[in-house]
Amino acid sequence: MTTSPVFPSGTILGYPRIGPRRQLKKAVESFWAGTISAAELEDTAAALRQATRNRLVALGLGADDSSIPGSFSFYDQVLDALCTVGAVPARYASLVGADGCIDLAGYFTLARGEGENLPLEMTKWFDSNYHYLVPEIGPETVFSLSSDRIVREFAEAKAAGYLTRPVIVGPVTFLLLSKASDEAPAGFSPLDRLDDLLPVYAALLQRLAEAGAEWVQLDEPALVSESIDAPRAEAVAALGWAYDTLGRLATRPAIFVAAPYGSLDDALPVLAGTPVDAIGLDLVRGALPLDAPGLAGKTLVAGVIDGHNIWRGDLAGALDKAERLAELSPRVTVSTSTSLLHVPHDVNDESALGDELPGWLAFADQKVGQVATLARGLSEGRAAIAAELAAASVALEARRNAPGVRDGAVRARAAALTADDFSRGDYQARLVAQDAALGLPLLPTTTIGSFPQTGDIRRARARHLTGALSAGDYRDLMEAEIARVVALQEEIGLDVLVHGEPERNDMVQYFAEQLDGFQVTENGWVQSYGSRCTRPSILWGDVSRPRPITVDWSTYTQGLTAKPVKGMLTGPVTILAWSFVRDDQPLGDTARQVALALRDEIADLEAAGIGLVQVDEPALRELLPLKKKDHADYLDWSVGSFRLATAGVADATQIHTHLCYSEFGVVIDAIRNLDADVTSIEAVRSRMEVVADIEAGGFDHGIGPGVYDIHSPRVPSVAEITELLDRALESIPERQVWVNPDCGLKTRGYAETVESLHNMVTATRAVRARIGANAPA
Ligand code: GLN
Ligand code: ZN
Repeated sequence: MTTSPVFPSGTILGYPRIGPRRQLKKAVESFWAGTISAAELEDTAAALRQATRNRLVALGLGADDSSIPGSFSFYDQVLDALCTVGAVPARYASLVGADGCIDLAGYFTLARGEGENLPLEMTKWFDSNYHYLVPEIGPETVFSLSSDRIVREFAEAKAAGYLTRPVIVGPVTFLLLSKASDEAPAGFSPLDRLDDLLPVYAALLQRLAEAGAEWVQLDEPALVSESIDAPRAEAVAALGWAYDTLGRLATRPAIFVAAPYGSLDDALPVLAGTPVDAIGLDLVRGALPLDAPGLAGKTLVAGVIDGHNIWRGDLAGALDKAERLAELSPRVTVSTSTSLLHVPHDVNDESALGDELPGWLAFADQKVGQVATLARGLSEGRAAIAAELAAASVALEARRNAPGVRDGAVRARAAALTADDFSRGDYQARLVAQDAALGLPLLPTTTIGSFPQTGDIRRARARHLTGALSAGDYRDLMEAEIARVVALQEEIGLDVLVHGEPERNDMVQYFAEQLDGFQVTENGWVQSYGSRCTRPSILWGDVSRPRPITVDWSTYTQGLTAKPVKGMLTGPVTILAWSFVRDDQPLGDTARQVALALRDEIADLEAAGIGLVQVDEPALRELLPLKKKDHADYLDWSVGSFRLATAGVADATQIHTHLCYSEFGVVIDAIRNLDADVTSIEAVRSRMEVVADIEAGGFDHGIGPGVYDIHSPRVPSVAEITELLDRALESIPERQVWVNPDCGLKTRGYAETVESLHNMVTATRAVRARIGANAPA
């Protein structure tokens, strides 16, 4: 093609797919349960897509200028790309029909597994709380266009009078996010298959052009991340090669390559040197780029509206950035920095945020409005949008000065902190004091905190929320549940007990609801993975703890048993990671405030006679920045906030933490620096590989590498658990080892939980006896 069509003046990189009332979640889960047919699910999805297009036009995007992204997905955009290019793992070859296509049921099977066949692995999408499915690519993978869903969705929109812009994960990111298949030989890298994959993308582009698509969006976020396994030079070269190849195609739509979540750095000049038509830059996370040869010939898509948080933000500042970008190319489009997948639908859907907060916020729909406004400002001049800019500045100013945003007492306390507040002192002295206080056996057994959340518990919470169940009755029910869980743990023979967390709806929201500075939403759902959605709280002001949160529950529990009970809190980093956090100060400052609130809670637990407190930080790895240059600062504040929360206790009080991902090696130094007395981690899915990292890292504190996978209902046998324990004991001195499951039991049923824990205790006792028998006299 010679001249590309004009790119719209404003667009978004993607829109939430779940529906304002989680319609998609409900329909998908009904399909899984067999209560609706595939055709009914397709109808619901089509209606949602049509509603989205109507809504986006009402909010200011154009119906016929390719500004509406075709970003729908039934489950996950990486899985969509996998099905489009037909990269189905060998164990699922039977899912491909006689026509070479994968139907909806097959699509979900890849995500959820079937019988003995494991689903695709799931992992975090860049530094967000969204999870994608990891393709498995080997030399044996056959690529062929196996789903025309993306073409059909384009045609569906066109028939309804909309010219949309199909969106798909780009070929380089697709391979960079893949892992080598089990069949692949050592040294194989999925990127080796780029030349075989590109013809499928070429065929897709041709089909889209024939269907009438003027623009297509290929997402290449892997190029902004430095935590991708492939060597950087290879990734950048692959990008250049891929878009040289696709750009030279005779029949294709204009190509827009989007690079959300950070700056492209050295990949930008390479991309600018290819024949692509438009390049999307994240100007919220990334800096304005330097000029590069070829850039002036591209449409530059200025990602100036933050797609990753819910603040209304500085509209004039965003326009400044777009104008600065316009110095590099005569064609600049205003856009969001990322897909709006990470934010809820509509602030106007909230009725209980108070008078002030809604004016400071922008959910997806408000952000679309901001894009449309700035697009007008960029083309018609600032005067054309003077009223909108002024309103945004007024809101920003109001937010700055609102009561609660800055709390003098909280700030004074944070300012007065000294190094001592972050340090617990000598570990050996703590060990002696804790041994004396707790008197635990070798290889102590425990759990990660939650026990199964039964239907009864959920119903009681729902009824309490609507007022149908009084606070007193609710409390009685929860206490009865705790008593049951304690009796069960005693019967099983666990050494350190928990209360089971029945009173918690969610490990972050539960605390957000009780801390000052947070606000909870009613409909603020965002997709976490597949049909799973979370409702992050809004951390808008200075954080403090008006009253104790967990102390009554923990002391009630300790009163039921002579065994030690572990208090259970969520750590500052995880609270931040799973909330929408204020953007008007460094994350580290906010983390300190949360840490101080937790520090008070821990002091109260200790004073109430709780001898062990676990502070969960499952999100420690998730927030690790994508650029290496940002790691030191992040690790400093994240580890610092954990230490600040936990360092106020006496030597005899044992601090636990829990992390749940298997890439222990990546942050082993950070974990050592947390200085928790005991750290429990997920280890089963990596077959205890993490113990090698622990050994190599010279870790001398307590460690509980999980001995069974809680993500499936499968009950591990005594023999399996023994084998894993033995493997851990080969690398780690026995006095350090704790025995526990991989993670909390909240999503499990009671039958398998009880059996699994019994097996865990039986295995531990046998290993203990053996160690005892072998001990030198
Ligand atoms: N204590 C929490 C639980 O057991 C930890 C959950 C988590 O690691 N995500 O549920
Ligand atoms: Zn966990």
